[in-house]
Amino acid sequence: GSFEVNLKKLLDENISPEGQELINIVGKWASQLGMRVFLVGGIVRDLLLGQKQKDLDIVVEGDALVLAQEVGKTLSAIKFIPHERFKTASIILKNGQKIDFSTSRVEFYQHPAALPDVEVSTIREDLYRRDFTINSMAIEITYGHIGELFDPFGGLLDLKEGIIRVLHNLSFVEDPTRILRALRFLGRFNFKLEENTEKLLIDAIAGGFLNLASPARILYELKLIFTEKDILKILKFLKHYGIFQEVFPKASYEEDFLKRYFNYTVEYLRLLKETKISWLHGVMGVYAKNLEGIEEFIKKYPLTGEEEEVLRQGASGIDEALILLSLPREVKGQEIFETLTKLPPEGYWALYLLLDRFRARERFKKYFEELRFIKPEITGEDLKALGLKPGPLYREILHKIKMLKIDGVLKNKDEEILYVKQNYF
Ligand code: ATP
Repeated sequence: GSFEVNLKKLLDENISPEGQELINIVGKWASQLGMRVFLVGGIVRDLLLGQKQKDLDIVVEGDALVLAQEVGKTLSAIKFIPHERFKTASIILKNGQKIDFSTSRVEFYQHPAALPDVEVSTIREDLYRRDFTINSMAIEITYGHIGELFDPFGGLLDLKEGIIRVLHNLSFVEDPTRILRALRFLGRFNFKLEENTEKLLIDAIAGGFLNLASPARILYELKLIFTEKDILKILKFLKHYGIFQEVFPKASYEEDFLKRYFNYTVEYLRLLKETKISWLHGVMGVYAKNLEGIEEFIKKYPLTGEEEEVLRQGASGIDEALILLSLPREVKGQEIFETLTKLPPEGYWALYLLLDRFRARERFKKYFEELRFIKPEITGEDLKALGLKPGPLYREILHKIKMLKIDGVLKNKDEEILYVKQNYF
């Protein structure tokens, strides 16, 4: 049953003044319109865990469009985006913040585009369609009831005990992507699977249900996994439950490598001033030990052309670079530059870890720390001043000078100018 818990204080302490203002306005309008309104999902869980809260996820027992419109007017929202069919609406505030309202409903859909009309329901039913008890709590924010916890499935207790528990026995069969979600939350919170839930998860895997989920939805969950802090831990769970190869076909699970890759990536990339880490970095890491396998990944999931390109170029670029950087002979800066500059950033880290010789690593570092920043000192302006006609030749000349500079042949602007005079007139 539900707990008699009031979380008003928790809301006061953990939600920004603007967030509270928003909650008040939403709550007042709801009560005026005769609706009940709730915060649901991850934000409730995270508030109870004392973790930093993210976006407000608002569910209405009533017409979310009507409520969103009134709230939008009160807050002079700059945009009101209704989805009549799904009874959801978003408003965008002047500060750019987006707030989503949805009408409580029975089914959970990831991609509303392909759906039948939604069936409106109570908050209890809305919570019952969710994945795990810890994600199936709501905090009421209707005026006069702000902070009342609605917890019909025992989420609070499971949260306290660190347990991931499904709401019913068919949960994983109904939506096999929940298998991945379960492992992701296990890894993130260091929780345990409740005994029956684990059995159901194992059965669903053995029954091949993960294969029945659409690749797009699995991909969506994989992307989420690669945004987690402890990626390795989640990969270990995938391995443990026997689905690593299923979601990453032809990837080879080598724990030591994965550990080095995922546990030290952030520091290393920071060192390289590459702070943006995309989920494609994750895929490169998983496939680094079997680069050909990446084609299987590309085949299995609906990637954008750009994503495919990154993965393909990453894989072939790594191969090429491994050979060049490991050559026993002297390797020119220019060769290193031309090979590594073709590699997408998503491949650098995997490449570095794959290099097992000191000399090869030194060459790699040289590229990162020096070569890639080298630029000719002369510019198009200088070429113009020398009397050269602007055109494609400019690019060619500047590139050539850059290469000669990388190899230390040209050392300063005077030498660059002299070079142009001697070779292009
Ligand atoms: P995160 O902190 O990773 O964002 P979250 O719980 O907010 O966690 P979302 O993926 O944003 O995760 O989902 C929001 C809510 O929607 C979840 O808390 C859960 O209640 C519900 N949900 C999401 N995916 C599913 C699913 N596949 N099946 C059932 N409910 C789901």
